[in-house]
Amino acid sequence: MSDELISENQRLRIYLNELLEQARRNQQILRHQHALDLEVIGAGSFRELVSSIFQTLPVSSRLDVVTLLLIDPAYDIRRILADLQIPLRDFPHLLFAQDESEFGELCGRLDRPLLELYTEQRHGFLFPEPIPMPKSVALMPLRRQGRLIGCLNLGSFDPTRFSPDMATDFIEHRGSIVAICLENVLNHERLKHIGLTDPLTGVNNRRYVERRLLEEIGRTRRQGYALSCMYIDIDHFKQINDRVGHQAGDEVLREVAARIKAELRMTDALGRFGGEEFVVMLIDADCKDAASVAERIRQSVAEPALELGSGEKLEVTVSIGVAMLNETDGIEPVDAIARRFIARADRALYRAKKEGRNRVVAAD
Ligand code: GH3
Ligand code: MG
Ligand code: MG
Repeated sequence: MSDELISENQRLRIYLNELLEQARRNQQILRHQHALDLEVIGAGSFRELVSSIFQTLPVSSRLDVVTLLLIDPAYDIRRILADLQIPLRDFPHLLFAQDESEFGELCGRLDRPLLELYTEQRHGFLFPEPIPMPKSVALMPLRRQGRLIGCLNLGSFDPTRFSPDMATDFIEHRGSIVAICLENVLNHERLKHIGLTDPLTGVNNRRYVERRLLEEIGRTRRQGYALSCMYIDIDHFKQINDRVGHQAGDEVLREVAARIKAELRMTDALGRFGGEEFVVMLIDADCKDAASVAERIRQSVAEPALELGSGEKLEVTVSIGVAMLNETDGIEPVDAIARRFIARADRALYRAKKEGRNRVVAAD
């Protein structure tokens, strides 16, 4: 073989190897992207989906920073997440906006993905401190039924990574998958929330409090903080119903629930347990703390008198039994402990009723 042919052959070999290497790299990228799509589609909860977006996406797509901004006009999403015990501090890269008007220069421009150099003025609200500042960004508008529901924001420290002349079909594809999955998990969380809410008063229902109680007892066992509960019952509610009617009785229930809630901390859990009975679980509160919160609740229900929609004024009082959890260790199943815990508060309530109502009694 001539020298020329040999060197031509070598050149072709090198070229072929480069092509193969490139193909292998592309295949690997595709595999990563495909795995990410499957993870996003498979997410069964908001927490899972958002974790994929913030943890898997940056690794599989070699991004330096990812944020997700959700449009939440009526605080719906934030309220549901709070009620479902999904704290926002777990997701520092999750942002919220009331509506698109908060998008400044980008308002009305997110009808398709935007790939461009980062500027503080234009993109600062999508990467607020202490989130690291990227050099170039790809903004992926999330739309459902023509409505903007959020924006997924990819950032790179490499200023050449994203630029306006790049193809966006891949980003659009990813954006539509994320939008569908996001809507799906949010609907799922909404349903969960409805199933744990009392429709009359808007506070939690019995199922929620019973579930939370099991969780909190478990956590108390591990972390050793105090857990208290109170059983609240409206005094002579039957007479109230007889006097003002069932409809106005419902109004009383709503107002009493609101007054109880106003005395509680975010971390406490209030639920309507049955007819005119409420249970409150106080996290990190001993019997003394719980009794003083209960006393505040008793006073705030008693005064000022409740004003019905009809204008009629009504004096309403509650009796409250308080108990503190005092058996966290041992081998006994948590649900048996929970039942006894509530029963002790209920017995204290019974004593409050016997001793004349409109009062707080602590167990033991
Ligand atoms: P006590 O001071 O001993 O608690 O007296 P009470 O009349 O409150 O006691 P009881 O538990 O016998 O009465 C509860 C009443 O609550 C009976 C029921 O008609 C009424 N009730 C239960 N659920 C509802 C509701 O959803 N709406 C209204 N308006 N009334 C309800
Ligand atoms: Mg009752
Ligand atoms: Mg009652």
